[in-house]
Order: sequence, then structure tokens, then C-alpha cells
Amino acid sequence: MSYYGDYHTHTNYSGDGKSSMEQMLRQALSLGLKELAFTDHVDYDYADPAFEKIDFDKYYHHLQALQETCYQRLQLVFGVEIGYQPHVHNKIEQLLQHYPFDFVICSMHMADQLDFYTGDFFLGKGQQQAYLRYFENILQCVNRFHNYDVFGHLDFIIRYGGYEDKVLSYLDYSDIIDTILINIIHNGHGIEINTSGYRYGLQQFHPQADILKRYRELGGELITIGSDAHYYADICSHFDLAYEHMNKLGWRYFTIYKNRKPRQLPLHKLKYASPEEYRDRA
Ligand SMILES: [Zn+2]
Ligand SMILES: [Zn+2]
Repeated sequence: MSYYGDYHTHTNYSGDGKSSMEQMLRQALSLGLKELAFTDHVDYDYADPAFEKIDFDKYYHHLQALQETCYQRLQLVFGVEIGYQPHVHNKIEQLLQHYPFDFVICSMHMADQLDFYTGDFFLGKGQQQAYLRYFENILQCVNRFHNYDVFGHLDFIIRYGGYEDKVLSYLDYSDIIDTILINIIHNGHGIEINTSGYRYGLQQFHPQADILKRYRELGGELITIGSDAHYYADICSHFDLAYEHMNKLGWRYFTIYKNRKPRQLPLHKLKYASPEEYRDRA
């Protein structure tokens, strides 16, 4: 089986990317993908300055040049993953105005200007308090920032904080999570189903099943599927599970973007038999 495409990947233009655009593209072609979105990081005023140093002129032209080599076989999607922080709002808007992005993921990688990765954000907070404060930051973000297409890995906070029990129960935060989801839906945005949780041994997508279900119940339709691969071999990892799960929740479509415009494709297209498999069946 082949997959349609991966809508969340990082190349070595990102501070933590391990593979070149060429390696990522080669892997996508060998998987028979129709689309590959490069969504490299921009995190202005992040604890690690390597995350804000993308040369977007170079990134864009590199992507264009690679597109020439695979025209008609695979569509490259010019994307970006923004790490939102309120005090760099204008800088983000300027970047998004300046380049012709196809697709923008908005993510929360820091909250209250404190880093999750180093643990600074968690100091002096209990687990529930930290998770609630994280969602309060997201709510503040979606109230103020509207120049994005999908919100990234909505419950990604559980990866951090060093807690033994990493479970985040939807019911403990249902009011604020619902408010966030309704805001996203009413403003015409979407979310992603991010499969990287499985690679981190978390046995869940980001967001987890209960939040995905709630998004659907509240009328959420726009949803992209991404691996958050930082290494070429992780492209489309656990997409079988994502496909099954979406089907189970009653989704009939998934979303792709071009020039910041969403398009819904039937879910059965997400996974389709490769030409070799068709031949085998014939
Ligand atoms: Zn992210
Ligand atoms: Zn990412």
C-alpha cells in the first residue's frame, strides 16, 4: 500500500532536522507519495536560536528547484511550522506576508516565554496546573492569531515535564479544550493528526483520540495528517493507524492545502494500491 502524502515534515533547514530536502524527497518518491509538505520550524525568540535562522529565500528556491525534478510525480508543498508566542506576533505576520506559503501549521512550543524542553515551564507547577496553563496559552493564541491553516500537535505538552504518568485526560480540561476547538472551527482553520506520539512511545496521536473525537463532534472537518518526521525514514510512520482511526471516528475526508486554500480528498485516497500491487491483482 502507498500513502497519499505527509503534511508535517522537517528537513535540515530546521534546527533539529536530520535529513536534507533531497533525502526526504527520495524517500517520499520511493513510498509513492503524491504530495510532501516541508514544514520547517520558525520559532522566534526560542530558547535555542538555531530554530529561528531559516533562510527562507534559500528554502523556497531549493524547494522550487527540487519540484522541477519531480514534476508530475509528486507535489511539494511549501509549508512552515510556526512556534507561536504573543510577543513575536508581528514578526510572524511579516514572514507569512513575505513568502508564498502553501500551508502554515501553528504550534505551541513554549508558553509564557518558558521552554518545555528544558523544563523551565514546569518549575513551580503541578502537572494539572502546567497542562491547564499550556491550554490557556493556546486559547490566547487562537483568539489573537488567525494566519494559520491547522493547529499542530494540540496536546504535545505531555511529552515534557518528566512525569511518570503522561496521560492527559480530556475530561480534566474539557471546557478549555472545547473552547479552543470551537474557536479553530469557527475561524475556518483545522487541526492535524500528528503520528509522532507513537515514535515517542506514547501510544497515541497528537492530539489523543478523545480530543480528535471531540473535534469531530463539534463539527471539525479540516484535518491534515502528518508524521512530524525529522528524519527521512520517519515519513508516513504509523499512517495505517491514523487512517484506521479516522475511519472509526467517521471521517470521510482529509485535507490538503495549496496557496493556503484547503481541499478535501476522500479518505480512501489516503492509502491506495501502488501500480505494482494493481499489477499483482490483475
Ligand atoms: Zn512542533
Ligand atoms: Zn514539527
